[in-house]
Amino acid sequence: MQANYGYRDGAGEFFITIDTEACDGCGLCVPACPGGVLEVGEDEHDPLRDEPVAAVREEQRRRLQYACGGCKRGGERGGEASALPCVAACGRGAIGHSW
Ligand code: SF4
Ligand code: SF4
Repeated sequence: MQANYGYRDGAGEFFITIDTEACDGCGLCVPACPGGVLEVGEDEHDPLRDEPVAAVREEQRRRLQYACGGCKRGGERGGEASALPCVAACGRGAIGHSW
């Protein structure tokens, strides 16, 4: 499934999407993320799943615009998403950004 984490406000939509079927829980995205946005653990959407899955940390979900600001200010907003550290780290193409 596509697990969406984030929010929508007057400034726009700020969502990170994890494709939980593509994600194998390898964890490579966690240390690659300078904002401390990601974690790997139990699948909160599928308690029957055995393998871990990536997710956006609970405390970061309402502040993604700021947590990801360093990467986005690097020129990636509206640019090439594959240059984002999290996206580049994931060889399975499981991470997407809405902005
Ligand atoms: S855009 Fe940057 S800060 Fe945001 S999740 Fe990806 S690597 Fe982390
Ligand atoms: S790098 Fe990709 S496959 Fe590995 S845990 Fe992160 S999202 Fe999942």
